[in-house]
Amino acid sequence: MLPVIALVGRPNVGKSTLFNRLTRSRDALVADYSGLTRDRKYGEGRLGDRNYIVIDTGGISGDEEGIDTHMADQSLAAIDEADVVLFLVDARAGLTAADEMIAHHLRRNHKKSWLVMNKTDAIDADSAAAEFYGMGLGDPLHIAAAHGKGVRQLVDLVLEDF
Ligand code: GDP
Ligand code: MG
Repeated sequence: MLPVIALVGRPNVGKSTLFNRLTRSRDALVADYSGLTRDRKYGEGRLGDRNYIVIDTGGISGDEEGIDTHMADQSLAAIDEADVVLFLVDARAGLTAADEMIAHHLRRNHKKSWLVMNKTDAIDADSAAAEFYGMGLGDPLHIAAAHGKGVRQLVDLVLEDF
């Protein structure tokens, strides 16, 4: 059985860009506007000598009330199906209410989840990281999915136990 990695986070943080990197496909739609990927999407990938399945999700809008509605059904389903959850946040945008809502859910979930700070290109990533540290999910891992920066290291780390 291949390990399953779920990509969760609010819209526009770069989940589909990372999915494409991890699967080397252009299938997941990447866009500047929210809500484009409506269903969860599966891909198989290989980096180095690691093989895995990745699930892309449409993201959680944060517009509704209550944690269960904030977490889109598909994101919850993806978390259930996954061995490893990557919770993506946007280093440029900083911490948002939707991020806090998702973090709250993940802290209560027993599944192993990693906080991944994307878009760390051309910014001071360490000061951006300080803001996310307080979410109680540990030190954020730094990547720039659009440039492939940190992606190989990320996979090596999160799949270490598989
Ligand atoms: P999703 O809604 O979470 O799936 O986000 P997308 O993958 O569609 O990306 C949203 C926007 O962020 C797109 O314009 C991407 O090109 C951009 N983006 C993704 N990764 C990076 C990155 O590492 N650096 C920068 N600067 N932009 C990125
Ligand atoms: Mg997407």
